[in-house]
Amino acid sequence: MTPTVARRRETVIGDPTVDGQSVSAAWRERALARFPGGVNSPVRAYRAVDGEPLIIVRGEGPLVWDADGTEYVDYVGAFGPLICGHAHPAVVVAVEAAARDGGPFGATTPREVELAERIAAAMPVIERLRFVSSGTEATMSVLRLARAATGRDLVLKFEGGYHGHVDGLLVEAGSGLATLGLPASAGVTVAQAVETIVVPYNDLAAVERAFDDHRGRIAAVIVEPVAANVGVIPPAPGFLEGLRRVTRADGALLVFDEVITGFRIARGGAVERFGVEPDLVTLGKVIGGGLPIGAYGGRAELLDLVAPVGPVYQAGTLAGHPLAMAAGIATLDLLMPAAYRELERTAAALEAGLRAAAAEAGVGVAVNRVGSLLTVFFRARPPADATGAKASDTAAFARFHRAMRAAGILVPPSQFEAWFVSLAHTDTEIARTVAAAREALRACRG
Ligand SMILES: *Cc1c(COP(=O)(O)O)cnc(C)c1O
Repeated sequence: MTPTVARRRETVIGDPTVDGQSVSAAWRERALARFPGGVNSPVRAYRAVDGEPLIIVRGEGPLVWDADGTEYVDYVGAFGPLICGHAHPAVVVAVEAAARDGGPFGATTPREVELAERIAAAMPVIERLRFVSSGTEATMSVLRLARAATGRDLVLKFEGGYHGHVDGLLVEAGSGLATLGLPASAGVTVAQAVETIVVPYNDLAAVERAFDDHRGRIAAVIVEPVAANVGVIPPAPGFLEGLRRVTRADGALLVFDEVITGFRIARGGAVERFGVEPDLVTLGKVIGGGLPIGAYGGRAELLDLVAPVGPVYQAGTLAGHPLAMAAGIATLDLLMPAAYRELERTAAALEAGLRAAAAEAGVGVAVNRVGSLLTVFFRARPPADATGAKASDTAAFARFHRAMRAAGILVPPSQFEAWFVSLAHTDTEIARTVAAAREALRACRG
């Protein structure tokens, strides 16, 4: 273990409670005064599970500790980036070294090239790429590029697909299939929303109808190749291949939003796992090893439409930040084939244990899993789209979440988020999790 990790532990232990209030409660109160809902991203407020938001002070491997010193096995994994677990020594050492080198410099650094070369080697469809600072920036920029490349305005996305908080992608389908979107957030204009067509995930016929209705007008289809923001929903056989066929036939671009799946479900992401080649790919989360990052990439001729070579403007003061590059390189260097075999083994054991626990408790749940991404849906049959996912018993999920938390197991605080298994989760944590789930499922029968 590195000295840094040991040093940080001492700052946690022995914090006194304040006026009979827990330390976490005191921090929550101060956070509530400064941030909407006390948080800097909504799901952290735990509203969907009627829970107090956590105040976390430290993580190591598969574990995190709250401000009161309570330990949890963590399946939130920062909502995706921490595939190697918290404070992996190799990542910590790399970030420390990069910090000592100074920067950012407003200039290209070797670490940017090194991370880009690793990405291109894993995903040959990415000949060139641009680093940005978040997944949201990546999807926003990639759609600007797709519109410029095709000279078309419309974008097709899927119900329940999350691509960051890009205005034009915060839309809901109206009634009926293949509908032009309505704003799903205050502050999004109708003008932006109507440029987005929304159809059900895994519904190729709906995609074909949308292309019939808007022939020659759709710039791009953007899809999470494994839906992972409505709970985990794998693509139906032939769905991604169908998207490839339909977009190619109409001259539209196919964008895989691999912000979650990239380097997560395989080193080469969904492109490798499903063997379907998109035109453009967005990345984030894992490629930054826990530091802020995003990227979009594809064929050189498309990326060369971006400034300064081409007419599509896109820039970033902190893009290619040396600390994020260092964390990303260290993380990708841990993700060799053996790592994916290990993730598969651990996550499969968790899935089997959860299924057995549910059967024992007599609770009908469906466990959807793709590699180290997993969701326990509180409904009997596995959902294939957002409508199916939303038919889950979210009250039962909330009871399950609270019981798991009380037992020291932290699962994402929403029915519609993926659990993230990391390389740091061992058989010990899996056994602890399954034992807790056995009790929690019994308790949450309602
Ligand atoms: C998280 C996520 C984003 C947004 O990334 P941020 O870094 O949170 O802006 C985009 N697309 C997908 C599929 C995501 O899961």
